[in-house]
Amino acid sequence: MTTEKFISELSKLNIKPTDQNLKDLAKYKDLLIEYNQKFNLTAIKTDKEIYLKHFYDSLTLSKALDLSKDLKLLDIGTGAGFPGLVLKIFYPALEVTLLDSNHKKIMFLETVIKELNLKNITCLKSRAESLPKEFREYFDIVTSRAVSNLRILSELSIPYLKVGGKLIAMKGTPDEEIKESKTILSKLDSKITNVIKFNLPLEESNRSLIIIEKLKKTNNIYPRNYDKIVKSKL
Ligand code: SAM
Repeated sequence: MTTEKFISELSKLNIKPTDQNLKDLAKYKDLLIEYNQKFNLTAIKTDKEIYLKHFYDSLTLSKALDLSKDLKLLDIGTGAGFPGLVLKIFYPALEVTLLDSNHKKIMFLETVIKELNLKNITCLKSRAESLPKEFREYFDIVTSRAVSNLRILSELSIPYLKVGGKLIAMKGTPDEEIKESKTILSKLDSKITNVIKFNLPLEESNRSLIIIEKLKKTNNIYPRNYDKIVKSKL
């Protein structure tokens, strides 16, 4: 996707990038290409692919909720910053925490944050299932793209949401995963409130945003250790 096409597709999402947004993205893209050669951060490597599959795709999250408020947002398994870091660039009022278990990815994210002089954004190198207690019931929003099956992701993320907070899982074709997550969602006192389906421009691949609302405080037994989560019955 060229930058011109990126801007015109964003206008369909009611997003009008500022000159500063575009400058920040161009720098982020350059750093991603440079660091990718050393650290293998992402399989998506060309300028056009980065604008479509990373930058534009991250911003489709705006279909799910109003991001212009000062919400506390956790991006689980953010990798090279998708969607969390792109959202922070466009919605500066967000308080963003980028979480990943991979040290090289966290180092890269810290470099981008410093270079772009972003404020009110933190990187955490940790497994989601072992986040410190102080983050329980702390976030308004958890986002996650391409990290794990919805059944697993729900248990990894819902304990860290406030009551009334939302998990927004970015998926391709989610119907099977939705079925498999029914039991755990009921144990986590949470429910799917909406599934927004659409196609990515140009390549027309399937995308969906699964929106899950937390209805009650989470039992302290969750999240269990990773092996237990994976092995638990559907
Ligand atoms: N969200 C990014 C994207 O869409 O480009 C990265 C996706 S990548 C396929 C999955 C990322 O999740 C990896 O960077 C991996 O280190 C991280 N990850 C997987 N399981 C995790 C866990 N339990 N806790 C924290 N990070 C995890």
